[in-house]
Amino acid sequence: MSIAQNLASVLDDIRRAEADAKREPNSVRLVAVSKFHSADAVAEAVAAGQVLFGENRVQEATAKFGDLAARALPFELHIIGTLQRNKVRDAVRIARCIQSVDRLEVLQEIERQCAKIGKTIDVLFEVRTGEETKAGFTDYAALDHVAALCAQGQFPHVTPRGLMTMAPNTDDHDRIRAAFRETRGVRDALAEKYTSLHLAELSMGMSGDFRIAISEGATMVRIGTAIFGARQA
Ligand SMILES: *Cc1c(COP(=O)(O)O)cnc(C)c1O
Repeated sequence: MSIAQNLASVLDDIRRAEADAKREPNSVRLVAVSKFHSADAVAEAVAAGQVLFGENRVQEATAKFGDLAARALPFELHIIGTLQRNKVRDAVRIARCIQSVDRLEVLQEIERQCAKIGKTIDVLFEVRTGEETKAGFTDYAALDHVAALCAQGQFPHVTPRGLMTMAPNTDDHDRIRAAFRETRGVRDALAEKYTSLHLAELSMGMSGDFRIAISEGATMVRIGTAIFGARQA
């Protein structure tokens, strides 16, 4: 199957999952995760109408999407992998959104680098609901503190949009569902407490579990393998 066919099929599945969950049509955005795939593969997806992409690693993203920009292809890039502080400078130049903010120091550096270039960037806060990844807030008091600082206006170049999570890598659907439900609960609590923040986004669900995520309120699903095929990691 071609990338275009895979995309059409994934979008079809997303629309069906929205309908099954009695969600509004098109209330879920597809983030096409292109890590380990070439700029040509991304260009193929763009030709098929996909605009929103996700990448884990800043260096790879900068090379690949710099190439796309040079070809004048339209894209919106989100960084979805854990960010080292020294990669923030390049990340904020290429990305529209950093989905993987998991500590205050990274947020401070994002603000500093965005202020330098006069750019405002969207962020999501990553929460850790699975044991497989080390990324994400596990201490919800620390997350609350970061949200409070945002609500106080401490990061004028940063717009928090919601939360991101990676569910546990398991076949146990109940555990996956519980992870998504927990993320939504944390988001709901923060949104209620900090009404000046607009935490509408829930980025959750990957190739194997996006239907569950949509039924639990995901507004963005991050899908790689089902679109681009297996990765040669
Ligand atoms: C790789 C990755 C994805 C996509 O995973 P697939 O199983 O290939 O769909 C989603 N989110 C994050 C954070 C990733 O690193």
